[in-house]
Amino acid sequence: MDKSDFKAIIENTCNNIISNKELLNSLDAKIGDGDHGTNMARGSQAILDKLETLTDLTIGDSFNQMAMTLISSVGGASGPLYGTALMKLGMSLKGQDDIDPSLMKKAFTDAVDGIKMRGKSDYGCKTMLDVLIPACEEFSLLYDGSNLSETFNKLSETGKKGVEYTVGIKATKGRASYLGDRSIGTADPGATSSSIILTSLSNSIDSLEVK
Ligand code: ADP
Ligand code: MG
Repeated sequence: MDKSDFKAIIENTCNNIISNKELLNSLDAKIGDGDHGTNMARGSQAILDKLETLTDLTIGDSFNQMAMTLISSVGGASGPLYGTALMKLGMSLKGQDDIDPSLMKKAFTDAVDGIKMRGKSDYGCKTMLDVLIPACEEFSLLYDGSNLSETFNKLSETGKKGVEYTVGIKATKGRASYLGDRSIGTADPGATSSSIILTSLSNSIDSLEVK
């Protein structure tokens, strides 16, 4: 993966989040305060506004700057949580101009562990982690350094299954947990945005033929 691929992937992902703003808001309106789409779209737009400068840096520094941008532009739980994940990616990939495949597993794991720690949360609490933990485990299992496209196609499917899983369970973290059993029956907004990100990564990797 080179810098121009990296830039295109970030751009596609931010645009996909922005196009799903209403869907994410409507899910959050059912079990939260209705702003997850607005939050994610604001953060994505702030990243797009700085895309040229951001992608002029090394990939590690670029993730760090994206983290700062998200944390400073997004109110709500999701800003600091996704921001922490990006910060961990930045730390794990520090000094890399090109993402070395062997570092990707560690970077992904560090990012998910960062969310767990920051959110004091884990699998099964009806959050973004219900998508990201299985996706990360699958990535570590499947990725052999040469099958990025096939791996991300699988992760995209795993993400969708993770969202389905959140429909049937009760929220025990975040705003949705205030609803108790009434949170059952709606997909978690953060799990949905994580699934959108995975599908967007998969589509970008395919269309750019990133190796
Ligand atoms: P807020 O809940 O502050 O309004 P958002 O609506 O932007 O923030 O984000 C809500 C999403 O954040 C939830 O759907 C959930 O996936 C995620 N989330 C909330 N709290 C936590 C937590 N403690 N750990 C992991 N994810 C969380
Ligand atoms: Mg909200």
